[in-house]
Amino acid sequence: MGVPVLPVVLAILSAAPTRDAGPPPRGLSCLTTWYAGEVVHVADAGWGFAIDGGTVLPWRASAPAAVSLPDGGGDDEGEEVVDLESIYRVPYVAGPIVVLDASDAGAIEDPGRVRIEQLFLTTYGQSRLEVFDHLGKVRFFGLRYPFHELAAEPLRRVVTRLEPEVQANPKLKPFLTNIGGTFIWRKIARSKNLSTHAFGIAIDLNVDRAHYWRWQRRGEALKWQNKIPQEIVDAFEAEGFIWGGRWLHYDTMHFEYRPELLSDACRESSASRSSRVGGVDGGR
Ligand SMILES: [Zn+2]
Repeated sequence: MGVPVLPVVLAILSAAPTRDAGPPPRGLSCLTTWYAGEVVHVADAGWGFAIDGGTVLPWRASAPAAVSLPDGGGDDEGEEVVDLESIYRVPYVAGPIVVLDASDAGAIEDPGRVRIEQLFLTTYGQSRLEVFDHLGKVRFFGLRYPFHELAAEPLRRVVTRLEPEVQANPKLKPFLTNIGGTFIWRKIARSKNLSTHAFGIAIDLNVDRAHYWRWQRRGEALKWQNKIPQEIVDAFEAEGFIWGGRWLHYDTMHFEYRPELLSDACRESSASRSSRVGGVDGGR
């Protein structure tokens, strides 16, 4: 948004044309469906995603963390190295709700919690005002809430999926009313990174019906808890929203639009793909 990306991308390509690189990783090429940028292959740096401002976000961290051209905005201050591949390193598995146990080795990682902020900034808006300019309104069980225009339609489809469920089972309704909120320009608690709420792509359901790991007593071992019903989780996941109840650092009110984590087009192996057939649509 704002700065045109194309001339910069062309500059990279003409400076370092790479042939015979083979096809790009699926998880990388599928990003163009939802995020603003282009897949590029840079000699000596490998595959990457060229975004606004002349920055190439690397697919793999063995490449430089961020290849910045003059005028590029990719100043990472030597923080943790982030590559795009890390988005997928912990697979997000939709379907039946799984009770997470801190003592399980596999449970310690939270699928979807690796977020590449630059992808969000370049796609949804670089500032509070820029995001604000791209907010739509979504009617969600009685009230209208601001949501980013790029994620508003998927959220409306969630509502469409849930309406008959609520009709059939009115006990679902209290989870979906009096909700915690959607857009708010803020950082993640005790973090330097912007929350996905800042981009208008996340929604918190009724806080009174939710559990959040930071509400546990200090020093206690993480004890996963949840009351959110399966039908609600299924409806969101079917439309590309991940759920904070899949995290050992649970945040069960929280759903965020991360279609890349739920799309078969982004998955590398056919094995993981077939294991999920029927999962997203709640075919249990
Ligand atoms: Zn949230």
